[in-house]
Amino acid sequence: MNRTLTIIKPDAFASGKSGLILAHLEKAGFRVIAARVMHLSDAQAKEFYAVHRERPFYAPLVAFMTSGKCMPMVLERDDAVAELRRVIGATDPAQAEAGTVRKLYAESKERNAIHASDSDENAAREARFFFAESELIASLQAVPVASGLSPMA
Ligand code: GDP
Repeated sequence: MNRTLTIIKPDAFASGKSGLILAHLEKAGFRVIAARVMHLSDAQAKEFYAVHRERPFYAPLVAFMTSGKCMPMVLERDDAVAELRRVIGATDPAQAEAGTVRKLYAESKERNAIHASDSDENAAREARFFFAESELIASLQAVPVASGLSPMA
């Protein structure tokens, strides 16, 4: 089992595709470890995509990623990074294979519905970008109620 970081991007979130995309990912064997709905600040989007800061699409990408709410999630399954890249398809939906998330739900090369980490190292870094360590615990143990203190006892 290992993990990757995905973001349902503002285009897909705003057009009500989050549920469809999450169902697609769960059918592909991913389990959600952590998730939140948030609106990225300009500083957060710039930092998250800093690797692309010299590229001509950096400023429009930051503008797009801050244009509305998005949904970052940490997902788990075996071979998570490679499998998620396969399931989402090519960056440009016109090049993406049939049945991939981007082929089904993306509008364009920029407004392409979903992000997926491209290495284990980046997956770990990106997971920490959005989530505290305590949110990344696989499943929290239920806290036992001391007998005698429970209202149902
Ligand atoms: P990814 O790993 O498939 O998401 O692609 P990249 O890491 O290369 O690019 C990051 C994001 O920048 C993509 O998902 C797109 O939203 C956007 N992007 C990448 N290439 C282009 C481009 O040529 N034009 C525009 N407008 N956006 C792009």
